[in-house]
Amino acid sequence: MTIKEKLIILSDSAKYDASCSSSGSNRSNTKGGIGNAASCGICHSFTSDGRCVSLLKILMTNCCIFDCKYCINRRSNNITRAIFTPEEVCSITINFYRRNYIEGLFLSSGIIKNPDYTMELLIKTIYLLRNKYKFNGYIHAKAIPGASNFLLKKLGSLVDRLSANIELPSNNSLKLLAPDKNTNKINNIMRTIKNNRSRSFTPAGQSTQMIIGGSPETDLDILGKSEFLYNNYDLKRVFYSAYIPINKDKLLPTINVPPLVRENRLYQADWLLRFYGYKVDNLLDKNNPNFNILLDPKADWALRHMNEYPKEINKASYYDLLKIPGIGPKSAKKIISSRKYYNLELNDLKKMGISLKRAKYFITCNGKYFTSMNIFNKSIIQSNLVLEDKTFTSSGVQLSLFNE
Ligand code: SF4
Repeated sequence: MTIKEKLIILSDSAKYDASCSSSGSNRSNTKGGIGNAASCGICHSFTSDGRCVSLLKILMTNCCIFDCKYCINRRSNNITRAIFTPEEVCSITINFYRRNYIEGLFLSSGIIKNPDYTMELLIKTIYLLRNKYKFNGYIHAKAIPGASNFLLKKLGSLVDRLSANIELPSNNSLKLLAPDKNTNKINNIMRTIKNNRSRSFTPAGQSTQMIIGGSPETDLDILGKSEFLYNNYDLKRVFYSAYIPINKDKLLPTINVPPLVRENRLYQADWLLRFYGYKVDNLLDKNNPNFNILLDPKADWALRHMNEYPKEINKASYYDLLKIPGIGPKSAKKIISSRKYYNLELNDLKKMGISLKRAKYFITCNGKYFTSMNIFNKSIIQSNLVLEDKTFTSSGVQLSLFNE
């Protein structure tokens, strides 16, 4: 098999892994080396299904001894298998980098022979790339569950970021759909990465991926898992990957299209957890375990708590301002510093560049609502917000970056 044929197979096999966003590592090139890693300098591009392709994203091999029900590479699938040699991965990476096709490498792998053997193959490849080819650019590698801590530490000292995919939001679903995987082994990887992280060990931290809609967990379960991972293992990102029906299996749901809008809502909610100080139980509870996919999670929450609105813009605390749909940390800070000098009117907010498209329904300025208070009604506001939400096309399908 030629190297090009392998590349076609092993880049296609890698496309379902969403945990490869690159960032967070700053490193200048060294004398005689090739490439820099920059915390925000690696540009992302996206395929039509929304997945990041800014890195050369490949598998070392798509041979796998595991049989995860949802995975194209599972051992029971009859697909063409390929395996790169370490030299081949280095040669492709360096050549693509020199041609400016890529900014770095995302290297994952099916599990060949056993977890330690697979990790050794990854280490050998990346060691060669760093030392023989002097590649100093960004590298994200997959940590293989079940491999020894010694190998994990070795791999972590060569790369910018590591990820171990949690895959499913509950132990039960993992047992059912990925019976060869084990939550404890994945947790052990995450704990080891967290405890050893430094400038010379996975400086860009770790990430993981969860499949959305392949198992019955609610948004509350999924976000609860993410919150646990952020709090306990210091994860940089949890990536949500809408379940893509590739395999036929009675344990898998029968859906025709991946739940991309749900995936998008979870990303929005995840943002609220990481940057707005929300906790999962601020957003969802047992009576409302799933987001209304027609609305972004903040607007959804606000509409379920209409008794807390409208908020007076001249009095609301910073955290109350953040609860107003359409107002983020930057706008909240601007409001707080400006209102020290004068009472703000709606026009002042506009002049400050604050978008009022959604916020106007949830605020008063000097006691005044943007129009008659008759409109302060849950169903009216909800219909207006749904109409303004650009997540959907008129047919209720998520907008694509590429389709007309
Ligand atoms: S371990 Fe599971 S998810 Fe990973 S390549 Fe093998 S079958 Fe696929």
